[in-house]
Amino acid sequence: MARITNTAPLVDQLGRRHTSLRISVTDRCNIRCFYCMPNENVQFRPRHEILTFEEITRFASVVSQMGVRRLRLTGGEPLVRHDLPRLVRMLAELPNIDDLALTTNGILLADQAAELRSAGLERINISLDTLQEETFQKISRREGLDRVLAGIAAAQEVGFRQIRLNAIAIQGLTETEIVPLVRFARERGLELRFIEYMPLDAELKWQSGDVLDGAKIRRIVEMEFGPLVPVPPLHPSQPANDFEFADGSGRLGLIQPVSNPFCESCDRLRLTAEGQVRNCLFSTAEWDARAILRRAVRRRAGSSPTPADDDDLANLVRACVRAKAPAHGIGTIEFTRPERAMYQIGG
Ligand code: SAM
Ligand code: SF4
Repeated sequence: MARITNTAPLVDQLGRRHTSLRISVTDRCNIRCFYCMPNENVQFRPRHEILTFEEITRFASVVSQMGVRRLRLTGGEPLVRHDLPRLVRMLAELPNIDDLALTTNGILLADQAAELRSAGLERINISLDTLQEETFQKISRREGLDRVLAGIAAAQEVGFRQIRLNAIAIQGLTETEIVPLVRFARERGLELRFIEYMPLDAELKWQSGDVLDGAKIRRIVEMEFGPLVPVPPLHPSQPANDFEFADGSGRLGLIQPVSNPFCESCDRLRLTAEGQVRNCLFSTAEWDARAILRRAVRRRAGSSPTPADDDDLANLVRACVRAKAPAHGIGTIEFTRPERAMYQIGG
């Protein structure tokens, strides 16, 4: 990979240093969660617009020279992307990356866990909002809870460094899921995080009253399991407030982007599946990395990209970081929803 000229860290106007990149590998998915995608007639990006593994790796290599150390693959559903372990292997070989993780809905995980692990994937987040098939279908509008549970079991068998369960909490729908999910996670020695529902659904139905907030979740958990004890974060910029149970068994995280935003410690950048750089989930602007990634190929078909092109990519990312807003502003009158829904950005 070519070296870039200016390797200064990616620091924005508020002094936030960017060390983490979320890479969406596809906007496609095998289920249709109402908080993320439309149920029908989804307009996916044409395949030729989606970045190749080589393009993704080149982008990751450039930002890794400016201090990005942590990568997370997401989507859409990353496991529907053909031959994903090949990308994992390519990213795992980058010299400056010391954390490689993935977020999945788990449906295809039983088939792929072993190969992903041996390709170099270290950590995995599996989304699990409910333990009841009926509620699973209400949320995802498809069948498949049994496959998700099989995926979790397979992940445990192959032994990732960390497996975490992520549950979206929705007022009026998942209150009764909280205690069973906590019990499920504790019995299996898995970390669990509850995440507040954000205004990123494709059908534009989100309302503030749909958010089951962290304080309510905590009350429900404490009624069953006793007082939760706040513990220091595992990573300084992590979005979750972490707790231990009073009996010392298990760890629980609350991610509260709506009721308790963590924007002041945000260290994340995002790359969409079709190569747009974003400085926030709620950003209304994007920076076109694909144009630069593909420009070199057009200029000299078949030749390697030149260092000057990688400097252009680096400058684009710097401009994106410089333009980062102080906060997403959900709940304020200035807040504008991004045009894209979660599956089009990469969660
Ligand atoms: N398909 C994979 C999955 O579901 O785990 C990865 C992509 S998904 C967009 C990443 C995460 O975003 C999932 O944990 C999902 O539950 C969460 N998510 C999706 N829509 C959301 C919303 N509107 N508010 C909060 N979290 C959301
Ligand atoms: Fe698919 Fe994940 Fe979005 Fe659900 S949250 S529709 S699994 S991309």
